[in-house]
Amino acid sequence: MDALFDQPFKSGQPLSVLTTQPLDRMLDYRAPEGGAVIGDFVEVPLGPRKVLGVVWGPATGDYPVNKLRAVLRVLDVPPMREELRVFLGRAADYTLTPLSLMLFLATRAPGLFKGPAMMRVYRPGPPPKRMTEARQRVYDVFEGYAGAALTVGEITRAAGVSGPVVHTMAAQGALIEGEAPKDQPYPRLDPARPSKELSEDQAKASAELREKAGDFSVTMLKGVTGSGKTEVYLEAVAECLRQGRQALVLLPEIGLTEGFLERVEARFGARPGEWHSGVTVTERRRLWRMAGEGGIDLVVGARSALFLPYRDLGLIVVDEEHDASYKQEDGVLYNARDMAVLRASIAGSQVVLASATPCLETWVNAKTGKYDRLDLLARFGVAELPEMAAIDMREQQVPHGRWISPALKEAVDARIAAGEQSLLFLNRRGYAPMTICRGCGHQMQCKDCDARLVEHRFLKRLMCHQCGATAPVPESCPSCEKPGTMHPVGPGVERMEEEARALWPEARVAVLSSDLFGSARALKEQISEIADGGADIVIGTQLVAKGHNFPYLTLVGVIDADLGLHGGDLRAAERTFQLIRQVAGRAGRAERKGVALMQTHQPEHPVIKAILSGDDEGFWQAEAQERRALGMPPFGRLAGVILSSPHLEHAFEMGNALADRAEPLHRIGAQVFGPAPAPIARVRGRHRVRLLIKSDKGAPLQQAIRAWLNGVKLPNDLRLAVDIDPQSF
Ligand code: ADP
Ligand code: ZN
Repeated sequence: MDALFDQPFKSGQPLSVLTTQPLDRMLDYRAPEGGAVIGDFVEVPLGPRKVLGVVWGPATGDYPVNKLRAVLRVLDVPPMREELRVFLGRAADYTLTPLSLMLFLATRAPGLFKGPAMMRVYRPGPPPKRMTEARQRVYDVFEGYAGAALTVGEITRAAGVSGPVVHTMAAQGALIEGEAPKDQPYPRLDPARPSKELSEDQAKASAELREKAGDFSVTMLKGVTGSGKTEVYLEAVAECLRQGRQALVLLPEIGLTEGFLERVEARFGARPGEWHSGVTVTERRRLWRMAGEGGIDLVVGARSALFLPYRDLGLIVVDEEHDASYKQEDGVLYNARDMAVLRASIAGSQVVLASATPCLETWVNAKTGKYDRLDLLARFGVAELPEMAAIDMREQQVPHGRWISPALKEAVDARIAAGEQSLLFLNRRGYAPMTICRGCGHQMQCKDCDARLVEHRFLKRLMCHQCGATAPVPESCPSCEKPGTMHPVGPGVERMEEEARALWPEARVAVLSSDLFGSARALKEQISEIADGGADIVIGTQLVAKGHNFPYLTLVGVIDADLGLHGGDLRAAERTFQLIRQVAGRAGRAERKGVALMQTHQPEHPVIKAILSGDDEGFWQAEAQERRALGMPPFGRLAGVILSSPHLEHAFEMGNALADRAEPLHRIGAQVFGPAPAPIARVRGRHRVRLLIKSDKGAPLQQAIRAWLNGVKLPNDLRLAVDIDPQSF
């Protein structure tokens, strides 16, 4: 960056500030008393409000300096580094998102303004002249905090008094201002502690990763579940720590963090910091600060951890890199896996993409040499890969309203007799996917979404899986009004539980489905109980497919292997392949060999055959060939433009109008498809219509889209979102 930009702005000099407000430009201000530097986090006036911003550069407008308002104050946190500013800028360009929104993602440290470090805090002074009951309660609160200074909010909440009580006490000297407590650094992780004794494969892979530490590189680490990938990338973490840099491990599921934290503690002698929605506000503020100050070595988190202000990020691991949850589908549409590679390329960090079933994009990038590739071929130790077999449902006698075939039942019987666990996998939450009237055929639908209402017996409600709206299970049909005719159709995990309990009345049955747990903690407890052998039969949705270690589990029964195959989506095959391989990988992770049985009506389907044969490379090769023939990602590029409105016609009209004037797209040789109903056609009362744009790999797609959409005026009821690299096509 230009040396000029590193010059501090002296008090009163004009500068530009990027705020988190949805504006499409920077705002100019005067530097505050004491000056400011680029990257400083500041509070600035905007109309009657104070808002958060970052000093981005010299003033952009040409207002006379004396007309500019002054920055109110510079926050007491390290300035945003150039690396992060550049990353936010490139990420905004790539995803076609306003820069202010990217800054919003990067400043999600709750209470950055408000934490104790920023707010006035009090401790007790001499007792007030008149001691009321409320005032006594305020004094009592401090007892419990060993004399620590507290904010007004903390005092009022704990003492159950109103704000004025505290303010009056402060005015009278009964409370005096105290020293704000500083956020504490996290315990250091010690990379010198010994690792597990690595297998030959593992040692080789870690040595190769170590070799590449310190610079930007991307490595796909592929290995079947249980092959010891985690141990390998922990060695990359160790090397990163030895170099004095910070590491980030992204996990797709909060439920997975606990087990991982324990492994980190065992390896490095201390727990890393956690960053996800389940972490308290105070802890997140502390972590945000410590990331910037260097008071944390390793962060384990969800995709948003990618936007933290690391002081020196040396390594990013994306575990289960194929996981669909890395794609944020709300607000800023970004794929954390791709953004990890982008940030690493700017920060000079190493990237490890770990998976047993990488996404096709990653596999192709490794094939073409854009990414490096490491393979762990066998399971660690004595554990062997599960044997895979199909149960041809056309040959099984299954009573109406039942889904477990005699062949699968027999297999489960055998496990129970042997004291081993079975997992019945069905990727459908709730009791039944449909609720239909026997009389008139009426189907319960969400009134705001293009989705069926799913019966959840556990919650005793019908629920929309799109928007979360719930409704009571109707006693009579809302359409023909006949009483008692509404009945469930099809299986969900809750219904499988019912069937399992009927088939195996003596067995201990546990259900793992995200909506059955009130808290992350309850889920964690259930998972560790299963791991300890506290269940004979586990019934689960895709929640169980992700990285858990169940040593007693030796049988996986896939209730409906055909479920994901028919969606008209080009990714359907890849997704089904990944999901079933992942679930099957739960079986036989310890000494006992596992078996995975897939109930299917089409055992000759290519995806089912690929899963049965275990020929991963062949499967990817065939998928890649098909995508190449169609010019689809990763061989071509796609972008979606989603228009949403309460009025379907408005969305379509706008879509057609945009499609009709798409010269900037045609100029780069891109094709425009649609408008057509988006993959999720209606959510929360808004209809969604999508234009799909397809271009060659090398074409400047973003630039063309920007030119195309430039100056588009949207009526009030319409919203437009660009989805670069959409997940479904
Ligand atoms: P993956 O991440 O590929 O699924 P893990 O790293 O979780 O595999 O390893 C699977 C199991 O094997 C875990 O229980 C792990 O503790 C164990 N394991 C892996 N490598 C070693 C090793 N070198 N020494 C001892 N145990 C290991
Ligand atoms: Zn809904």
